[in-house]
Amino acid sequence: YLRIAGLSKTFGRTTVLDQIDCTIAEGELVTLLGPSGCGKSTLLRCIAGLTAPDRGSISVAGVDITGMAPQQRGIGMVFQSYALFPNLNVRDNIAFGLSMQRLPATEIARRVADIVALVELQGHETKLVHQLSGGQRQRVALARALVVRPRILLLDEPLSALDARIRKHLQQQIRRIQQQLKLTTVFVTHDQEEAMILSDRIVVMEGGRIVQQGSAEAIYTRPASAFVAGFMGSFN
Ligand code: ATP
Ligand code: MG
Repeated sequence: YLRIAGLSKTFGRTTVLDQIDCTIAEGELVTLLGPSGCGKSTLLRCIAGLTAPDRGSISVAGVDITGMAPQQRGIGMVFQSYALFPNLNVRDNIAFGLSMQRLPATEIARRVADIVALVELQGHETKLVHQLSGGQRQRVALARALVVRPRILLLDEPLSALDARIRKHLQQQIRRIQQQLKLTTVFVTHDQEEAMILSDRIVVMEGGRIVQQGSAEAIYTRPASAFVAGFMGSFN
C-alpha cells in the first residue's frame, strides 16, 4: 500500500538515508526502530513531503507521490513535540486540521466531536494547551492528524516525552484507534519494548539503512546481526 523504493538522502556529506526499500500493507502498523541519528525522522519527513529525497520514490496505492505537496498526500503526522497552537483551545486546535478543506461549520463540528470522543478528550474541548497534561496534549495532536481522515498516519516518537504509566496507556489507545480505523501507520521509536508491544512488524534501522524487518518475535529471537541483537536486548 505504502511503497518506498531506493530512497536516499544526503545532508552535506552525510548520507542519512541509504537506499531504503520498504513496503507497508494497508491497515498495518509498522514500527521504525533504531538509535538516535539513524534517519528515522528524515524517512518520515520524506514520506510526509516535508523533506525532498535525492533519489528513489514513494507511492501510495500504486500512485507515485514523490513530488506531491504535503497537503495533497492524505498523510497525517504527529511529532515528538506537540506543535499545537498555544492560543487556541482543544477544539480549535483539532479543527485547524480541517481548515484547508471547505467544509460547512456543522460538518466540522460533527467531525471534531467524533474525534474528541475517539481520543477520549470529552470535557476538555474549551481548555487551552497550557491547561493540559503532556498526555492530553499528545492526544490533541493525534486528533488533529486524524480529523482529516488520512490514508496514512505517521507518528514520530509521539510518546517519548511522557512518563511510563501514561506512555503505556497511550500505546494501547493508539493501537485501538489504529485497528478500529484500519489505518496504515508508521510509528517511530527508539524504545524496543514499545516496538514489541505495538507493532504488526518492526523495521530496524542503523546508519540510514534498514538492517532487518520482521515480526517482533522474529527480530528478538533471530536478530540478523550483533547490532540488532544488542539493540533488542536479545542474547544469542
Ligand atoms: P532521533 O532518534 O534522535 O530522533 P533520527 O533517527 O530521527 O534520530 P534524523 O533526525 O533522521 O535521526 O537525523 C539523521 C541524521 O541526519 C542526523 O545525523 C542529523 O544530524 C542529520 N540531519 C537531519 N536533518 C538535517 C538537516 N535538515 N540538515 C542537516 N542534517 C540533518
Ligand atoms: Mg527523530
